[in-house]
Amino acid sequence: MSEQTITVNLREIRAESGLSLSKAAALTGVSKAMLGQIERGESSPTIATLWKIAKGFHLPLTALIGEPIRESSSADGIFETVQFPGSISVKIVFPYDADLRAETFHVSLQAGQSHQSQPHDHGVTEEVFVLTGEMEVLRDGDWVSLSAGQGLRFAADQPHGYRSARTGAAFLNMHHYRHAVLARQNL
Ligand code: MN
Repeated sequence: MSEQTITVNLREIRAESGLSLSKAAALTGVSKAMLGQIERGESSPTIATLWKIAKGFHLPLTALIGEPIRESSSADGIFETVQFPGSISVKIVFPYDADLRAETFHVSLQAGQSHQSQPHDHGVTEEVFVLTGEMEVLRDGDWVSLSAGQGLRFAADQPHGYRSARTGAAFLNMHHYRHAVLARQNL
């Protein structure tokens, strides 16, 4: 279901922006073959691939994993959890808001799981607030320990990561986009 959402969103973003597969590949660093497979629903993208697409298009992650945003009425919708195979699961709590330039996700980490992320778009700041369990956040090259009820803010336009050794963890993950994110029609 969510793969279908990603498929539809990517097709629409590319159609509305008039980008060829070649141009989309050049912007995102994701191969034409992979983009085509995602658009045809033949391949489930990893979270890392989705972030490359978001960064290349200067779009929030919501634009890819949320319901197709045709009306702003989806703002208070309930969103499904996207479970990335062998990786984290992500659910939209607050979809991207163009005025606030922010989006919030609920992220789950299994015990023993470590997820490292490449830099997001320039100027993106993240906040992590731990709901349950114990975890660590990779910030400026150091793993910072956090327990339930604790939060951390960090620049996410550099390498960062999340891991939980024994307990697994659930956390809120806020993304703040310093630079105006282009409307998908204006890519
Ligand atoms: Mn991140």
